[in-house]
Amino acid sequence: MHEEALISIIAPMYNEEAAIDIFFAEMRKFLAECPYQYEIVCVNDGSKDNTLDILKKYAEEDNRIKVVSFSRNFGKERALYAGLKYSSGDAVIPIDVDLQNPPMTIKTFLAKWEEGYDIVYGVRENRKNEGRLRRFLSKKFYEFYNLISEQKAPYNAADFRLMDRKVVNAVLRIREKHLFMKGIFNWVGYKSCPVLYNHADRAAGNSKFNFWKLWNLALDGITGSSTLPLRVWTYLGGGIAFVSFVIALFFLIKTILWGDPVQGFPTLVILLLFFGGIQLIALGIMGEYIGRIMIEVKNRPLYIVDELINIDE
Ligand code: UDP
Ligand code: MG
Repeated sequence: MHEEALISIIAPMYNEEAAIDIFFAEMRKFLAECPYQYEIVCVNDGSKDNTLDILKKYAEEDNRIKVVSFSRNFGKERALYAGLKYSSGDAVIPIDVDLQNPPMTIKTFLAKWEEGYDIVYGVRENRKNEGRLRRFLSKKFYEFYNLISEQKAPYNAADFRLMDRKVVNAVLRIREKHLFMKGIFNWVGYKSCPVLYNHADRAAGNSKFNFWKLWNLALDGITGSSTLPLRVWTYLGGGIAFVSFVIALFFLIKTILWGDPVQGFPTLVILLLFFGGIQLIALGIMGEYIGRIMIEVKNRPLYIVDELINIDE
């Protein structure tokens, strides 16, 4: 069906000097058995180590290995976006270079693609290597995300997936600055199918995501997919106003019947603090959205490319 097809592997890299050689070695094992033409688009996301130099050596030997090098670190989501933009394959497969996504799984992706699926997404069978707290918070995030978003993002689904060219073109039409790729991949729609894979341990080096980065990614995901957190205050405020009206009535009647000895100082303090807190939360959430509007309005480029190797603009 896709005999002459070109497949693009997209590998975002940030300080991955320790993992690159193992990555290419594994990739070659897979590509040796792969019946399609291929290219590997490596996005160097502003690495401060020797990642770029090592990449250049590989690119020199083989012009199917392409390099997009950023002027600084712009984050994995933007690196992925650039990878999609500079790829030309009929099917595009983002993969982590730390080999947590086993390249051999791509065979199954390709078989499903041949069956006619436009998106074949990897689903992590286990996440034992990710730390209990991270797994727990990640699960909570997806529960919340799916509760408030129109388009669901399956829990445990990975960026590791195959997308047909038409899906990639659809994704590239999205021009927002706060990218949450997993959400976007689902938002565009198309016929999709999951494939379970074994999420391996990192081959070398350390995770590039700390708690703060993941937290902000989660906020990007939520603010990018739903305005419910903004709107919920109207209803909460309405509810509280109604309750306060009932309480006012109660105090009015109580005062008429029994007089008005001064009481309830602790209640006042608690209520004051409680509603002060609620209002600040509401303001803070508005701030999250307004800050993002500000970035969108400034409309700066998603990333700055410093160097392109084996790619003509
Ligand atoms: N990565 C990137 N830019 C970043 C952070 C990560 O391009 O700012 C790449 C990284 O080199 C790796 C992939 O994204 O290829 C996944 O990162 P990592 O393995 O550190 O994340 P984790 O597996 O812990 O989620
Ligand atoms: Mg990893």
